[in-house]
Amino acid sequence: MKRVFLLTIIVIAILISVSGCTQKKNNNVQSTNGKITITATIFPPYDFVRAIAGDTVNLTMLLPPASESHSFEPAPKDIITIQNSDVFIYVGGESDEWVNRILESMDTRDMTIISLMDIVEVVEEEIVEGMEEETSAENTAGKEETAYDEHVWTSPQNAVRIVQIITETLCKADTVNADLYRQNGAHYIAELHNLDTAFQAVVDNANRNTIVFGDRFPFRYFADRYGLSYFAAFPGCSTETEPSAGTVAFLIDKIKHERIPVVFHIELGNERMADTIAEETGAEKLLLHACHNISKKDFENGVTYADLMRQNVENLRKALQ
Ligand SMILES: [Zn+2]
Repeated sequence: MKRVFLLTIIVIAILISVSGCTQKKNNNVQSTNGKITITATIFPPYDFVRAIAGDTVNLTMLLPPASESHSFEPAPKDIITIQNSDVFIYVGGESDEWVNRILESMDTRDMTIISLMDIVEVVEEEIVEGMEEETSAENTAGKEETAYDEHVWTSPQNAVRIVQIITETLCKADTVNADLYRQNGAHYIAELHNLDTAFQAVVDNANRNTIVFGDRFPFRYFADRYGLSYFAAFPGCSTETEPSAGTVAFLIDKIKHERIPVVFHIELGNERMADTIAEETGAEKLLLHACHNISKKDFENGVTYADLMRQNVENLRKALQ
């Protein structure tokens, strides 16, 4: 797998050097059809750029809609897309470790690169009671590397910071449209502040502060922001999807004991575990959308991060009754 990937990089490097004379970019020079080109790896930064710049830029999301973000590997065309970007935005966590290998193979002097994890305060992945730790080859080999939680965008407060940085970057990359970007950026930030206030109000008026996930838990930043405690089968980026009987029994017991009305699942998963827990406890199964990616239908309909988060406000309200 790795060897194939390396070969791909070499082939792409040759392709890029051959096409270099026609693709060459200069700072602040519009790349294609008078627009700057921006590439985001996953949905949240894609959506933020779309809100700030709309059709004024050429914008690409590398991750195809509805696909799994944690196992994404770039195709040769994706690498060319990155190479041709004026601004490239990625998360900087475990799921896109491939980015560093690709950027090292490229001439990035004319590219502005934003890593979301570099612009907000990051926390380590956390294992809470009842959660199954991943038993990957790397872990069992005793590799002691600090794993920071990559789901920084799940807190609207972090999203504000990210939108601020993206806005400033676009203003510098495309000074002609800077006023528009500032105006749109401010508008989106106001929307994110409203969401933050709405989540806080739900938590302030709630009967409980514990949420349960029959799924992975990518909401560490979100839970920290609103003082929520949580139980879940797996940490955020676990590749495991089949829990042990003990894990499921633990979550069922928690829900029954504390009479928790909702069991959450996240987007684009199989929902089997949450179904089982819902059947056993009578709890309602609801989605808390972590926004890694969205369905094809939502993508075509232009659904935004803010839309998904507004639905999360309502589902959180039910869960904390
Ligand atoms: Zn994740």
